[in-house]
Amino acid sequence: MTPQPDPIAATATTSKPGAMTPTVSAQVAAGWMHTARFLITAPELHFLPALQVPEIAFVGRSNAGKSTCINTLTQQRQLAFASRKPGRTQHINLFALGKQGITDAVLTDLPGYGYAAVPRQDKIRWQQVMANYLVTRENLTGIVLLCDPRQGLTELDEILLEVIRPRVEQGLKFLLVLTKADKLKKTEANKALSIARLQAGGGQAMLFSATKRRGIDDVSRQLWHWAHPPVDPTAPAATEATPPANPVDDTPA
Ligand code: GDP
Repeated sequence: MTPQPDPIAATATTSKPGAMTPTVSAQVAAGWMHTARFLITAPELHFLPALQVPEIAFVGRSNAGKSTCINTLTQQRQLAFASRKPGRTQHINLFALGKQGITDAVLTDLPGYGYAAVPRQDKIRWQQVMANYLVTRENLTGIVLLCDPRQGLTELDEILLEVIRPRVEQGLKFLLVLTKADKLKKTEANKALSIARLQAGGGQAMLFSATKRRGIDDVSRQLWHWAHPPVDPTAPAATEATPPANPVDDTPA
């Protein structure tokens, strides 16, 4: 089966006024990703502040290449490795995104699951924290599941897919990122991508390699689009009752 081109990759690379679906250049998306800064860490969902901006969660099995992917996308060497600091390894870690210090989206790093050395009780607790976050976080807009295609989806990945399926069916965005693509031959990579597209259900799948810098533009642009949906000109104008996307307190001190 010939893999279909990625919808985002197949679109124009610059914004076109009047186009049906606005597109973003790789440069703009990369600049936006680079603004990522640590926001907050929390052991459970109820410690997180309620936010109005779109939130995109990165999930995956331990060693899938998630930290490397986040650091590569944000062009920061240590950002996601901050999630590994003592005390944060089983925490929900949030990073703010947005130019000029104005947060217009949030990236969530959910530390990897399935690490053999973690005690069973801790594993179960973490799976519950994750499931609770993925099912109930209100501003969650999209989920990026990282997977090493040499191993394929593991049992825990499949469980996670089941957990999020109802939300994906209701419109939650989903992207399956096949990491370490440099480890695969071209034919293997194409086959893995075809399978991943089927496994992604209504979502998408992309190949990624931090080493070979493959897929960075496509994933960055996809995330930008998730966080900046086209404005519906027919939608009623926001009323005063609607909180702003990023409430900023600019009252003089
Ligand atoms: P995490 O546990 O999911 O955060 O995984 P890491 O980002 O720490 O990566 C796990 C291992 O995979 C490390 O040894 C990385 O150097 C390696 N790795 C991550 N991304 C790539 C990649 O694109 N290509 C290759 N060849 N190795 C990678």
